[in-house]
Amino acid sequence: MTRVVDRLQPGRTVFSVEFFPPRNDDEEQILWKAVRELEPLDPAYVSVTYGAGGSSRDRTIRTVGRIAQETTMLPMAHLTGVDHSKDELRHVVGSLASEGIQNVLAIRGDPPGDPMGEWIPHPDGILYADELVRLIRSWGDFSVGVAAFPHMHPRSTDIETETDHLVNKIRAGSDFAVAQLFLQPEYFLRLRDRLAARDCHAPLLPGVMPITTPKVLSKFQHLAGVPVPTEVSNVLDPLVEDPKAFRAAGIELSTKLCERLISEGVPGLHFYSLNRAKATREVVDNLGLAEGVLQPA
Ligand SMILES: Cc1cc2nc3c(=O)[nH]c(=O)nc-3n(C[C@H](O)[C@H](O)[C@H](O)COP(=O)(O)OP(=O)(O)OC[C@H]3O[C@@H](n4cnc5c(N)ncnc54)[C@H](O)[C@@H]3O)c2cc1C
Repeated sequence: MTRVVDRLQPGRTVFSVEFFPPRNDDEEQILWKAVRELEPLDPAYVSVTYGAGGSSRDRTIRTVGRIAQETTMLPMAHLTGVDHSKDELRHVVGSLASEGIQNVLAIRGDPPGDPMGEWIPHPDGILYADELVRLIRSWGDFSVGVAAFPHMHPRSTDIETETDHLVNKIRAGSDFAVAQLFLQPEYFLRLRDRLAARDCHAPLLPGVMPITTPKVLSKFQHLAGVPVPTEVSNVLDPLVEDPKAFRAAGIELSTKLCERLISEGVPGLHFYSLNRAKATREVVDNLGLAEGVLQPA
């Protein structure tokens, strides 16, 4: 099995890319244009998200399957437990296996519609992501990753307990964790320190979304659950009426964030591509990441 962690090279920083499953033919074409443009850069792996409540079940399976069969890239499927019984989860995992998928990001997920709405587990389903990790590992020869939150998960009230839960789901059988978005590297580095203090050294990959438009920036706020930091808004707010200048400054900020993370020895950078290649390519090119960047000794 080729595991995502096997693609992380000691002493080097590589990169990976996240896509979402297309909802129609137009989106399918857009996605595949991005896939083809990113493929020559040889990302360590690419992942495809899973819609809340299984809304994208078949599209996620089809997309990762197609990536496995028609490209040279290593695909990873996201899977969430929302509104799924364990039998349904097992069925999805079986379908992934028959598409040749061996890497899965195990996520509990949010209630469809309102992410902060009451979480009601399926009566025959899972309660937290650690259970999903154990189930996937018990159902076959899979490598499993989990989600991590530098700014703390919006449902958590205490960062230390949340870190204990993260360690728990890593020790349930995960090989690595992928972090939610952040713009201040300190939050990511503190999370890494808290894991190390608990003797948990599984690779932690920062999530990066290159900033290209005000809309992307507001998506950051929505996903990270925190306001845009002043040092970023001071640069970008004056440029909102000038799309070209905004984009150039956003790419520069994103590149600088990645440079700092590389200097801190992260094994990989996980780019949220929004199914477009251009911005990810620019940052990857700026950093020389296609070849893998040497980390400081
Ligand atoms: C990298 C990444 C990829 C994502 N991909 C998707 C996707 O494809 N589709 C999608 O719908 N959503 C996705 N999400 C969003 C995700 O569904 C939400 O953030 C969700 O609320 C949390 O899922 P989780 O797996 O982290 O949950 P969990 O790890 O189960 O945590 C949920 C909450 O419960 C707490 N907790 C965990 N374990 C325990 C325990 N044993 N006892 C008590 N409390 C506990 C945690 O601290 C946290 O507050 C992604 C998020 C990230 C960071």
